[in-house]
Amino acid sequence: MSRIIPAMTNTHSAKSAASAAIAARADGLIGLSKDIWAHPEPGFREHRTARVAAGYMREIDLDPRENIAITGVIARIETGRPGPHVAIMGELDSLIVPEHTEADPETGAAHVCGHNIQIGNMLAAAVGLSRPEVLATLSGSISFMAVPAEEYIEIEFREGLRASGALEFLAGKQEFLRLGELDDVDLALLTHADASDVNALRAGVSHNGMIAKSVRFIGRSAHAGGAPHLGINALNAANLAMQGIHAQRETFQDNDHIRIHPILTRGGAAVSSVPANVTMEMFVRAANINAMKDAAAKVDRALKAGAMAVGATVEISNSPGYMPSKFHNGLMELYDEGVKELIGESGVGRMPHRTSSTDMGDVSQIMPAMQSYAGGARGRTHSDDFDITDWHLDVIVAGKALAYSAIELLSNNGVRGREIVGGFEAPLTIPDYLATLREFQGTESWSGEQLDDFATSQPF
Ligand SMILES: [Zn+2]
Repeated sequence: MSRIIPAMTNTHSAKSAASAAIAARADGLIGLSKDIWAHPEPGFREHRTARVAAGYMREIDLDPRENIAITGVIARIETGRPGPHVAIMGELDSLIVPEHTEADPETGAAHVCGHNIQIGNMLAAAVGLSRPEVLATLSGSISFMAVPAEEYIEIEFREGLRASGALEFLAGKQEFLRLGELDDVDLALLTHADASDVNALRAGVSHNGMIAKSVRFIGRSAHAGGAPHLGINALNAANLAMQGIHAQRETFQDNDHIRIHPILTRGGAAVSSVPANVTMEMFVRAANINAMKDAAAKVDRALKAGAMAVGATVEISNSPGYMPSKFHNGLMELYDEGVKELIGESGVGRMPHRTSSTDMGDVSQIMPAMQSYAGGARGRTHSDDFDITDWHLDVIVAGKALAYSAIELLSNNGVRGREIVGGFEAPLTIPDYLATLREFQGTESWSGEQLDDFATSQPF
């Protein structure tokens, strides 16, 4: 079947109309982003933030669906013509950093990763792209997604949600993927804040993926002074395990960008009793899935070695953290064109590989995806001195750049979007992806006590 492809039209007028519509609502969009900054809510608790996002969508005549993966919101607009489906995403959640001066005094929540500007720039893009004169030039469809829980925190709380059946995976985009919300999405875009304090919108190249482990060493309590020989010291097991993990580091290869950072969350109950219940949490991060699996296996070996040495039991509970991200070059280049139009050549750039992790990585394993970084912030992310410095750049200009990308992807019968989608070889299908996550999930219990029988049965 041959299809008549309309002559290439200039995208200039659609961009001007989108840009003017966003500019006309700039004060409101920045006000909304500041309001979310002032009311931070951590993942899967972003009820107010979600209401604000959905309310704004209704104000611009979109028809949002709410409570997706607990707090997610999605509004979809159709051009009425076949073509790719573009998702423009923003993340709803904050972190918890009580030391931040603007942290919520009750919960300690603070927007120290700047996700509040993401909801602002996603809605700004919605303002521009939903204009009838813009839509009339496009094919395909666009979804605006306010996604819960990108930060991988409060694991115990989320495991409770899992136990209650409210979710299966502990992050928002993972749940969107599980629930089928991205089944017919072809391309995904998101703009994150960047604390470089520069006038730039730079696409990120890649991130580490990670597996989260929560670990419990079970020993035996006894009088720590009077009869430690009757106890099994779980804290000593944890200490040895930590040394064992450090002893793996020389085996890691530079290109794999391994990061392993354990914390001790419970070291004992009372100083006069041999610690019998000691817990740790850790992330095992790497730039590719094989390196993640390899490093995780070495960590498990070290944890068991700690238990073995003192005769404790170790329970290792694994949660799939995030997939490594690998963002799409063609999509970045298309995005750069819009950035150049908006703030000039000096605003274009790349953020090199990051050893942090994001569930946008999961999306990037399945479809062409891009995550840009808007330079209007300063301080250390995830810390007490993070602040947004340039609201106009991070909300308005970033929103325009997202809108420009969607216009480029979906103009002229969606030819550029179709090209990118058609040429993309997905590392994972959604079913394969879900199977991989489930493979990373589970609890293993290993007892060092079993060696007692061995030791006593040997005639030395
Ligand atoms: Zn973030």
